[in-house]
Amino acid sequence: MSKGLLIVISAPSGTGKTTLSNELLKRVDGIRYSVSITTRPPRPGEEDGREYVFVSEKDFTARRERGELIEWARVHGYWYGTPKEFLGRELAAGYDVLLDIDVQGGRQIKLTHPDAVLIFIAPPSLTVLEKRLRERRQDDEPSIQKRMQAVRDEIAAAADYDYLIVNHRVPEASEQLCAVVTAERCRMSRSRLPLEQAIS
Ligand code: 5GP
Repeated sequence: MSKGLLIVISAPSGTGKTTLSNELLKRVDGIRYSVSITTRPPRPGEEDGREYVFVSEKDFTARRERGELIEWARVHGYWYGTPKEFLGRELAAGYDVLLDIDVQGGRQIKLTHPDAVLIFIAPPSLTVLEKRLRERRQDDEPSIQKRMQAVRDEIAAAADYDYLIVNHRVPEASEQLCAVVTAERCRMSRSRLPLEQAIS
């Protein structure tokens, strides 16, 4: 049985999810970030093993077939997956684990880990999102269009999630994210000790 809390954060690209995830890791102790594997090539500034473990399609398939992934999905033309071993080890050690994955992955996690907390970060508006994607200058025009197309589907899938945070401004959104994690840790049903021992 896992002891830590599994936190899933999903958001359309350019919503500020990476900034908010980093803020959460900085502000709340005891959370480990799960590094996914992907077949996407690294972007400038990304480091193998830090943002992602970058693998070939062949390697990805081999790992999936060996049962090494807890969930996986094809997103914007590339494969992404969450390694099983890190997740199991850290949760068992009592750490909370943060997964930054898409909504398809979130759904798979909810099935295998019904206790997981699913948080969806939404942009204040689609116009703002498109502007942010352009300003980021990480993607060319066709990929921006492809990503915008996927956004509506992702927002529709947010109905399955436990929490919705609209990222109007990072400080407020970050505050809300920390509050959600703190509240989830305090849930009576998550207490690892019988009540008399927890408060004695
Ligand atoms: P990016 O390539 O922009 O870093 O990520 C593209 C999308 O893939 C994001 O929505 C991100 O959350 C998602 N993603 C990253 N890692 C995983 C993973 O392990 N599994 C799934 N299902 N999605 C992932």
